Amino acid sequence: VVATTAVVHDGAGASARGPVLGLDIGGTKLAAGVVDADGTVRGFVTAPSEPERGSDDALTRLFELGRRAMEDAGAPVEAVGIGCGGPLDPGSGVLIAPLHLTGWRDVPVVDLAQRAFDLPAVLDNDATAAAAAEHRFGAGRGTRNMVYLTVSTGVGGGVVIDGRVFRGATGNGGELGHVTVDWRGRVCRGCGRRGCLEAYVSGTSIAERAEEAGLRGATAADVADAARVGDPAAAKVWRETCDALACGIVSIANLFEPELVVVGGGVSRQGDHLLAPVRTAVFAQVIGPPGYVVRVEQAALGDTVGVAGAAAVAYERLAPEVTVATG
Ligand SMILES: [Zn+2]
Repeated sequence: VVATTAVVHDGAGASARGPVLGLDIGGTKLAAGVVDADGTVRGFVTAPSEPERGSDDALTRLFELGRRAMEDAGAPVEAVGIGCGGPLDPGSGVLIAPLHLTGWRDVPVVDLAQRAFDLPAVLDNDATAAAAAEHRFGAGRGTRNMVYLTVSTGVGGGVVIDGRVFRGATGNGGELGHVTVDWRGRVCRGCGRRGCLEAYVSGTSIAERAEEAGLRGATAADVADAARVGDPAAAKVWRETCDALACGIVSIANLFEPELVVVGGGVSRQGDHLLAPVRTAVFAQVIGPPGYVVRVEQAALGDTVGVAGAAAVAYERLAPEVTVATG
């Protein structure tokens, strides 16, 4: 029996079949693009965020970028999706006090966007949105249970459970970068606790650990390159990075039993130099019945993942209806 059920709506009967305008508010850049229902991004544009100029100034420029994207795409859109770092309130559409946007407080970004575009709008955490994008349009297409990790300056993530993005009590859940891999370990710059995954595998901490190992001024990419050609100090730092990432992924996989873990972000561009040793360690350590294999794959969406994610959560939350098999 197949039954049609209404999903929870945010915007009073609003719906989105596409295309949707995706807006991404990052600490260093703003981005906009028109995203079709199959994930194709058109009219993609970016500009520096300059968050210190204040939220009014930045949002005026962001909405202008959105208008340019729509002009370039030459298509009317049905809704606006917005992604930003937390803490934020996806329900009311308010940026509470984003960590990467110093001085922004209680910014009603959804109200402002709805007024600017005269369209329904939704807001979500950017890592949650990226998870939704990889699930809907990218490496996770067709999976029911998927974990997304972004390994970049910091480490973030999102979890898809039974085909839906998990948000938690206030919409700020899925902080996978702060899973503990060593409770007496390195201090985490992101949250202040010790031994978080982020304190080992973020680009920032790879560079820090390299510095401590005598590799002065080396970036995460430099460390990866030097490890590849056999530099012993770099190889040790890189091995520790892979081990820590595998340790974090095993803990997360043991919690959710996903079919797939998708790894994105700048550090993931190392591809199998990072993921091959991680896969070996994860396969050896993860708990599961014989035959359970958690795949670990590189993210499929590149620089447009933020915009695609903002649109993906708009498609999800403003979906007119979903059809579910009830058995
Ligand atoms: Zn932390």
